[in-house]
Amino acid sequence: MTATIIDGKAAAAELGDAIAVETLRLREKGIEPGLAVVLVGDNPASEIYVRSKTAKTAALGMHSVLHKMPGETAQTDLLSLIDRLNADPAIHGILVQLPLPPQIDSDTIIAAIAPAKDVDGFHPLTAGRLAAGLPGLKPCTPLACIILAKRIHKKLDGLEAVVIGRSNIVGKPVAQLLLAENATVTITHSKTRDLPAVCRRADILIAAIGKAEFVRADWIKPGATVIDVGINRVLADGGKTRVVGDVAYEEARAVAGAITPVPGGVGPMTIACLMLNTLRAACDIAGLPQPKI
Ligand code: NAD
Repeated sequence: MTATIIDGKAAAAELGDAIAVETLRLREKGIEPGLAVVLVGDNPASEIYVRSKTAKTAALGMHSVLHKMPGETAQTDLLSLIDRLNADPAIHGILVQLPLPPQIDSDTIIAAIAPAKDVDGFHPLTAGRLAAGLPGLKPCTPLACIILAKRIHKKLDGLEAVVIGRSNIVGKPVAQLLLAENATVTITHSKTRDLPAVCRRADILIAAIGKAEFVRADWIKPGATVIDVGINRVLADGGKTRVVGDVAYEEARAVAGAITPVPGGVGPMTIACLMLNTLRAACDIAGLPQPKI
């Protein structure tokens, strides 16, 4: 058996088309959804992410602003910028690219973003609403995982889902979203005993660890759906680097029923979900109903 490849690029393009249509509808009402992306310092990976996010925003017909600040920026200066963006009526979403330099406390910065504009979904209020099952913006990468899993399973009701990783950015919120979809959820982490055995229970396995090709084929139940969140740069032949996921893709493909590739899986869908959140935030702030996407 060879797994179905869940094409994140194609899925993201479909979602992007729907977002562009709704954005046009909103513009006809005089509202141009606006996303401000803030980059502090010159981390090369962050530069790449930020560039693709701002390019995509503009491509879908939204207002896109990039604020680049030097690596030695003081926390108070970043907080002042966030205050200005919170008050700016042309901005509906604010994303501060992580990681931040060591003199800046990420938690303080995230908490300063107006929850209505929290398109990354990391604000404690947004996380609390998600945990309580209340409506609100959903963090982009976890939402991307659910959308991709639902390309295979129309409903997740009663399915065994195992999440590897318990970060606030991926592991915990994806577990909450799975729970909201009525899956039976197990969260595993670095202290989990016999991780392969727990993973073998999964109908849906979500890997968000940050360790290259960590999940092996014999951890996967035959026919399971595997969503690989990992982005790991490894040295390839010729001294170049290449990006691999947290799952040993080639061997996993022979066992899984469906699998997301890296790159081309969760990554592009995460960016599409950021656009979706910006559109949703713009509708909410304007007091308009949510788009039917
Ligand atoms: P993190 O470092 O904050 O969390 C990693 C988690 O993995 C921790 O909860 C830890 O308990 C768990 N872990 C570590 N070693 C383990 C082990 N040996 N066994 C079991 N669990 C273990 O990372 P993160 O921010 O959640 O990101 C995880 C991965 O996802 C990274 O590769 C990151 O680059 C990637 N990521 C991708 C996207 C995307 O858009 N595709 C977005 C965010 C993160």
